[in-house]
Amino acid sequence: MSRLRLILALLCGKLLYTAVRLRGSGGSALPGLVALRLDPRLAAKLSRQAAGGTILITGTNGKTTSARMLSAVLTGGGATVVHNEDGSNLLRGVASALLHSSSLFGKISADFCLFEVDEASLPAVAEQTEPRLIMVGNLFRDQLDRYGELLSTAKLIDKAVKRQKEATLLLNGDDPLVATLGSAKQRRLFWGIDGAAGSEIGEDEPMDSIDCPICGKRLEYRSRSYAHLGDYRCPDGHIARPKLDLAATPTLHGLKGTKLALSGGGSLMLPLPGLYNASNALGVLLAADALGLPRDGAVEALEKARAAFGRLEVLTIDNRRVYLLLIKNPTGFTQVIDLIRSEPRGGNLMLALNDNFADGTDVSWIWDASLERLRTVATRTTVSGIRAEDMLLRLKYAGYDLSDIVLEHDLESAFQHAVRTTPTGETLFVLPTYTAMLSLRKILAAQGRVAHFLEAA
Ligand SMILES: [Zn+2]
Repeated sequence: MSRLRLILALLCGKLLYTAVRLRGSGGSALPGLVALRLDPRLAAKLSRQAAGGTILITGTNGKTTSARMLSAVLTGGGATVVHNEDGSNLLRGVASALLHSSSLFGKISADFCLFEVDEASLPAVAEQTEPRLIMVGNLFRDQLDRYGELLSTAKLIDKAVKRQKEATLLLNGDDPLVATLGSAKQRRLFWGIDGAAGSEIGEDEPMDSIDCPICGKRLEYRSRSYAHLGDYRCPDGHIARPKLDLAATPTLHGLKGTKLALSGGGSLMLPLPGLYNASNALGVLLAADALGLPRDGAVEALEKARAAFGRLEVLTIDNRRVYLLLIKNPTGFTQVIDLIRSEPRGGNLMLALNDNFADGTDVSWIWDASLERLRTVATRTTVSGIRAEDMLLRLKYAGYDLSDIVLEHDLESAFQHAVRTTPTGETLFVLPTYTAMLSLRKILAAQGRVAHFLEAA
């Protein structure tokens, strides 16, 4: 009966998967949703067949990029992987990826299952997949979460990982909320960043989690890499950054990437910019170590890493260099701002703020990003998107001279204006929220400038 139920769920899910593809709307979680209605244990039945086990990646920022990097490491070593690479990271998205890779009779032939998982979905996904590794990258406030919500997310993840007694936990030791997850009885491995050369922490750095989770006292930092990540300790000794199993000293090379000198020898030239990507890459390298994969192969795959869809794209348009950098929450926005600041020549700026569901319908999160730091970098600024006025107001309070800023709601016109007013040979930084990024890519694709969404996903 249980097998019949699985086959029926797979049949319906696969038909729906094909139908969704034919309609051209790729990356849907709908087949998984329907299949789970017919067989709620589908993800368990399929994922547990992978001989190498299941790997789950969660955290606020960098899940997609980390999962892509680890997938490249695994496939580079010759393994086959089931991966929810279209980014639908709830249980239904996991089910969609699994049913797509399964035979009609419920056979999976992959070596590994690799899923990026939304923080709130981790308990359900972990319960079904009984993962071999669980990797947690960081916990930040996402847009309008309050600090209390961040703590309840941490508790939820903690409870879920403690139930997985057999799993190895890969934790970012730099994040006090992440490093305290799980129990001392579990196999826990930590990664972190040492002495972040080339980065500076401003007074206005957004800090999400700075209190000792046990006594509530403010944590002391010996060094900080960004936001609340760093080498911390509670003044009363309750917690401190754990001993790191893998650490690296980074040298930032702006948008070109970051060189990482690894603890224990060796180095890695990561072609993705910023300390946040450096931290993700270290987590992936630690995962490769934990799986017993050769270090050389993992480093080689990471040195060819590419940013996830829309996170960072570089185009040349009419002899101007154009960077597309997604913004989605205060910490991520501030990281993008710091990247732009790391470019010695600076450039022009275009900000596109939408408030559709996928962007977050309340745009007040932009007040928590450190826009003040951009003032000295941007020569000309264009603001666009549905909520362009809100961005303009934010810039006013960040000390910008509004007479230097052009407001144009229409994305295409705004983009054309921004390109036109950037001198030949100079750089334009375009910072869109998610749906503004999708629209912008459509416009660029129509002009033959970027690969179409489906090809890129
Ligand atoms: Zn304490």
